[in-house]
Amino acid sequence: MTPHIVPVRAFTDNYIWIIRDHFHAAVIDPGDASPVLDYLRQEKLQLVAILNTHHHNDHVGGNASLLREFSVPVYGPEHESIPTLTHRLKECSDKESEEGCAYLPEFSLSLRVLDIPGHTAGHIAYYGANLLFCGDTLFACGCGRLFEGTARQMVDSLEKLADLPDKTLVYCGHEYTLNNIRFARTVEPGNQALMEREREVEKLRKQNTPTLPSTIEMEKATNPFLRCDEPEIIRNASKYSGKPLTDRVSVFAAIRDWKNHF
Ligand code: ZN
Ligand code: FE
Repeated sequence: MTPHIVPVRAFTDNYIWIIRDHFHAAVIDPGDASPVLDYLRQEKLQLVAILNTHHHNDHVGGNASLLREFSVPVYGPEHESIPTLTHRLKECSDKESEEGCAYLPEFSLSLRVLDIPGHTAGHIAYYGANLLFCGDTLFACGCGRLFEGTARQMVDSLEKLADLPDKTLVYCGHEYTLNNIRFARTVEPGNQALMEREREVEKLRKQNTPTLPSTIEMEKATNPFLRCDEPEIIRNASKYSGKPLTDRVSVFAAIRDWKNHF
């Protein structure tokens, strides 16, 4: 049976993603254990693995409580301090190698690690079987704040994700989509696809339905942080900074700063 992916909500706007079949579950970024434990009990599932994308507490805070109930491997970034990790992962350039992978035998699923620094210094993503779990780096129509990295790093990380196949399903860590779209429309008011997306997302949010997963194709068409080469975005970013911006990194840095104050 192919696994499917279910969101468990935590805090105000976090999604804890569960990979599951009829018997097993793996959990990505369990910031809080209790909604995960409720879900596992209700669905009579056995936890088989925990995967973390970065060290922030709203992504790892539930690890210890889950480990008290289930003795499972905990995958996470090699270069971040997450005390509960059992498997420290980094990107492996050899795509055939097992190194740099989280293998979940219950689902015959191998998730490859991508290094995507920017939001935090050691942030990683998991990619496999057309699924991308990217934590707080790429959001639907947005991207994470630069807490520990540079604009250059974040641009490279986002480009790495944008290079994945168009149909890749994007599972990120927060429900920020509508707010992100409001900002994106300010930066790129002429983008038709963005207007359509806003209507779709408004409909979903009215029904309290998650706006995720997104796709890489959708993000390339509507996410301003992946569109720093677009003339309209360059123009508006330059207006915001009060000086002409020419390269992609400075356009990115300008709109990231703009979003922080939006
Ligand atoms: Zn974070
Ligand atoms: Fe977060």
